[in-house]
Order: sequence, then structure tokens, then C-alpha cells
Amino acid sequence: MAAACIFCKIIKGEIPSMKIFESEKTLAFLDIGPLSRGHSLIIPKYHGAKLHDIPDDQLHEVLSVTKKIAIAQGIENYNVLQNNGRIAHQLVDHVHFHLIPKPNETEGLGVGWPNK
Ligand code: 5GP
Repeated sequence: MAAACIFCKIIKGEIPSMKIFESEKTLAFLDIGPLSRGHSLIIPKYHGAKLHDIPDDQLHEVLSVTKKIAIAQGIENYNVLQNNGRIAHQLVDHVHFHLIPKPNETEGLGVGWPNK
């Protein structure tokens, strides 16, 4: 845990979130600024800023949970995104995977991405 990290504060319950899934290693919750309805963030509870900072077992579960949320949402079209570094549009320095449903041609991930 990192004291100043927004996502660590969400894990600890110090900042409220709309939780979708929680286990010992993983948390999933709705993005506060969704690009489409159901846009969620799936994070390892282990604090690391970038993908290469995260132990493999944590990553495995995060991806497995991402898949299961997509199945549970019943969506056929969606994007999974994971940004590393400011130039790559990473705003929060705690590894997170975006799961962005793409229900139709007009909602989400249009010209706004990645300059959301
Ligand atoms: P990044 O650009 O780092 O890949 O994406 C960070 C994401 O975190 C953004 O989509 C942003 O809307 C989301 N976010 C930032 N702060 C909060 C917060 O306090 N709560 C929630 N639920 N999402 C947040």
C-alpha cells in the first residue's frame, strides 16, 4: 500500500467506490469518468505503478477477473486497456486495467480516446 495512492485509498475504503468484485488480491470498481456505460477498472491490491512492478500471480488474477466481468456483463464488444507512464496517458500510478464495453458504434472510445 502507498499512503498517497488514490487506488490504495479505494482498496482501504478511505475513498468510496462502486465495487463490482473483490478478493484477497484483486478489486474491480466502476470508473468515475466512464467512457461508456459499465466502464470498470480492475486492479491488483498489490501497489505498483507500472505493469512490470506487479508479481505474476497478481496479474494472472486481474486478467481472469477482467474476463469474468466481461462475461457477467454479457458484452460481445469491449476494449481492455492498460496504460503505463504519462506519455502513454497513465494518470493514476497504481496498475489498473480498463474494461470498456462497446455496446454500439456511437458510445465510448470514439475520437475522445486517448485524449479523454
Ligand atoms: P489512466 O489514464 O491512468 O489509465 O486511467 C485512470 C482512470 O482512473 C481514469 O479513467 C479515471 O476516470 C479513473 N479514476 C481516477 N480517480 C478515480 C477515483 O477516485 N475513483 C474512480 N472510481 N475512478 C477514478
